[in-house]
Amino acid sequence: MPSKKNPPERDLQAVRRRVWLEKSFGIEGVYVKKKSQKPPRKPADGRALRQAALDETAALVAKCHKCPLYEQATNPVFGVGDPCAELMFIGEGPGADEDAQGEPFVGRAGQLLTKIIQAMGMARADVYIANVVKHRPPGNRTPTNYEIAQCHSYLVEQLEIIKPRIICALGLPAAQTLLKSDKSIGALRGRFYPYPDNPEIKVMPSYHTAYLLRNPADKGKTWDDMKKILAELGRPMLKR
Ligand code: URA
Repeated sequence: MPSKKNPPERDLQAVRRRVWLEKSFGIEGVYVKKKSQKPPRKPADGRALRQAALDETAALVAKCHKCPLYEQATNPVFGVGDPCAELMFIGEGPGADEDAQGEPFVGRAGQLLTKIIQAMGMARADVYIANVVKHRPPGNRTPTNYEIAQCHSYLVEQLEIIKPRIICALGLPAAQTLLKSDKSIGALRGRFYPYPDNPEIKVMPSYHTAYLLRNPADKGKTWDDMKKILAELGRPMLKR
């Protein structure tokens, strides 16, 4: 582990970035001394700052060569939605439609996710949607553990910037990655877990919408999971 006093070159960027983020949010952090007690920032201000931080991370993803996925991808697919979202959906990785458009969950599985979000009384713009890997695995194969690990710092940054109250992990790779678990999605789904890196955030694993397209009989279980999320958020249930 590098010492905080003398981080190696490669860690300096991360340190500078954290200092900038902490200053931006008015948070006292490891590397920053707070000069004066400032009033809390207005939400609109926070939104612009968070978006700027997300844009910075997206720019890093756009030129990322940490794993070979970028080689065959058309576009990076960083994430979309409200930078102050209380609820984040995390999927596996972009498919063909997402790769073509540079936006997550816009194909058939994405359209089902959009319907689920709307049935929850929200719009895509009210939540934040991203994936565990930001470039398309060729042929829509499952991303490897190596690819997920290489991409993980970007997901961590998204979570640190947005700080959602709830993460809905869609499918096995997202659930296992976020919970550092090797259990099946059937065993994990349907209840909240503390996010290991920040136990204030709750993780609800649920079935991936691509799975639901193939197994519509399990849509009811997904709706049960979404009702738990709505209850946790204190939002009214609109449908069913
Ligand atoms: N499946 C995913 O996991 N993510 C997408 O963005 C699209 C389909």
